[in-house]
Amino acid sequence: MSSQVVASQPAWAIEGFLETRDGRLHIDGADAVRLADEYGTPLFVFSAPRIRSNIRRLQQAAAAVERPIKFCYASKANSNMAVLRTVRDAGIDIEVNSGGELFKALRAGFRPAQIIFNGTSKTDAEIDEAVSAGIYSINVDSIYEIDLVEASARRLNKRANVTLRLVPEIGTRSHLGLQTALLTSKFGITSSEVAGAFRRALEHPELLHVSGIHIHVGSQTPDVEPFADAFKAMWEHLVRLHRETGHTLEHINLGGGIPVNYLRDRAQADQLPEHERAMLGASLEPVDVLTAALRVAREQARDAEAEHLFDRVTILLEPGRSVISDAGLVLTTIRNIKRRPETGDVWLLTDAGYNLMLSMNNYKWYYHLISASRAAAPATVGYKVAGPLCDSGDVYFDIEREGRLPDYRLLPIDARPGEVLALLNSGAYSLAQMFPYNGRPLPAAVLTGEGGQVELIRRRDTYEDLLMNDVW
Ligand SMILES: *Cc1c(COP(=O)(O)O)cnc(C)c1O
Repeated sequence: MSSQVVASQPAWAIEGFLETRDGRLHIDGADAVRLADEYGTPLFVFSAPRIRSNIRRLQQAAAAVERPIKFCYASKANSNMAVLRTVRDAGIDIEVNSGGELFKALRAGFRPAQIIFNGTSKTDAEIDEAVSAGIYSINVDSIYEIDLVEASARRLNKRANVTLRLVPEIGTRSHLGLQTALLTSKFGITSSEVAGAFRRALEHPELLHVSGIHIHVGSQTPDVEPFADAFKAMWEHLVRLHRETGHTLEHINLGGGIPVNYLRDRAQADQLPEHERAMLGASLEPVDVLTAALRVAREQARDAEAEHLFDRVTILLEPGRSVISDAGLVLTTIRNIKRRPETGDVWLLTDAGYNLMLSMNNYKWYYHLISASRAAAPATVGYKVAGPLCDSGDVYFDIEREGRLPDYRLLPIDARPGEVLALLNSGAYSLAQMFPYNGRPLPAAVLTGEGGQVELIRRRDTYEDLLMNDVW
């Protein structure tokens, strides 16, 4: 491709992955409109090369800080089996949040030593599954849960690896619902409880192997400071534990939250509230996060004469969004159009509702919308855009009039039914959260590969699937 063509690509383009060719959106060289024809819409499209390059960026960050980092993909972001296989083949590990995700991780071929289990409300059955599989770590969320894991280890006559999850009161500039290190968050053990919790967990070393300490400051964290503060807090606990008990933790888990830039195309960025703009347009790189955290830890280690501990500790990260978000998009077709004489608005009604992108509704998350059919045409006209659900809240703007999303979406002039649109950066927390509201069969998903080959990775539901578990 000549550099001239590259230079004329839209702002949302990603070279070699998301491009316009012959006026249409292409994904890894596959024509998005042909995909829509072949598989129907709505359709999830994921890019295996983009997943791999996102993972490579993480691995390069580890290389840059000259420190082996154990990356555990947060599978709640997207646990489609082909996505898990792609992540596993790219050479990283996995984090699960339920027995179901543990089952999927094992079935996708992750070895137990690659698996971490988080969660606030684990059942005895789930804990037994994790203990008998012998996973890398069960991250306990409370002192009470230490009892549960210990009882499971006793029941199964098998030692369990446990990590304590802390909630050290660290805020971020993300949505409150996505902040997880505040005392108002439901997660973790507080700073005042930590010493007691460790003492409790160390009581029966034949049952519990206390291997680490964990924090997750939240999702889409746009600044390095929360990561650095979190690391500092955990490091201090690690050193104190060593001093007081002689026990050495093997790992510090810094959680997920590396942000994704949802505003590569800033055409509508100025219509978002300032704090949303800063958060959604975050350009923080994994290497920045690791560098900041390690700098703090190195300084502290020197001051505390604890370099020997620092050299031994393994650092874990649990990236979800930053692996899969910009590797996925939703193709949707305009099914209906209406012009409201009173307001002059043109409404476009698509076939992709909030049942596929829950965040657009509950967090008013901004997914940049483009025309796949006319990807090179200038997006100059504002339309009211809405999904197909029988719910007034199923719209691509902020129905509450709090201005958290643009009131109009910019698309080329004369948009009309049959045109295929694409919601970009929608690979995380979308397919994983979808539900068949309104009797809408769940969509298919495809995975694109280098050179434009396409693989079906999820069959579209049939009407029969809608009946699957009903008993009557
Ligand atoms: C959700 C979650 C993650 C992943 O967060 P991202 O923002 O998607 O990177 C990691 N760790 C834990 C414990 C989580 O709950």
